[in-house]
Amino acid sequence: MDSETQNVKNSFVPTVISQDGGESAGGRPALFFDRDGIANISPGPGYVMSVADFHVRPEFVDAVGVATEKGWPCLIVSNQRGVGKGLVPPEELAAMHEVLRETLAARGLALLDILAYVGLDPDHPDCKPHPGLLRKAAAQHNLDLLRSWMIGDRERDVQTGINAGVAVTVRVDDDGTDAPPEAALATAGTYRLKRLAELPGLLGRCL
Ligand SMILES: [Mg+2]
Repeated sequence: MDSETQNVKNSFVPTVISQDGGESAGGRPALFFDRDGIANISPGPGYVMSVADFHVRPEFVDAVGVATEKGWPCLIVSNQRGVGKGLVPPEELAAMHEVLRETLAARGLALLDILAYVGLDPDHPDCKPHPGLLRKAAAQHNLDLLRSWMIGDRERDVQTGINAGVAVTVRVDDDGTDAPPEAALATAGTYRLKRLAELPGLLGRCL
């Protein structure tokens, strides 16, 4: 999908890996989710290195369930520098996302797309908090960013949403580990949730 595909450390690794799971529709709003700490338990300061360490959070599945009931498509937008560093093989990243798809499919759910920036350049337009991944997804799937939401466990995710011009941003303090990493940091987000388990209810009330 990326016409500006660049090579990073390994010549075969594209800058953006997209797994297109859906068809286009007309100008819909969408929910954009961060991956680590939201869709799966945070690896902490490092990376999820292998599919064996990729643990889908049931609260995320519940959130996708509520969004789907309301007719909102769900996507993941993620920085995965571990791939660009050569620490995480692209096929391992693909295997993690297959686990995510299978977990959702077991509930009759699906993601519209998963986009991961796997390069190392913090100034690249696709590297969060830059909004490139959201803009690409919007163009490819005909999504309306101005009515969309961005949900993540880091203030960087909130900034990504703001930079993309989304309507609503959500920061969740609970990343699935014992340590609330940015709980003390103020947020510019529209909503701040202590627990990811609060997200399905918020979506149920607001979508
Ligand atoms: Mg995260």
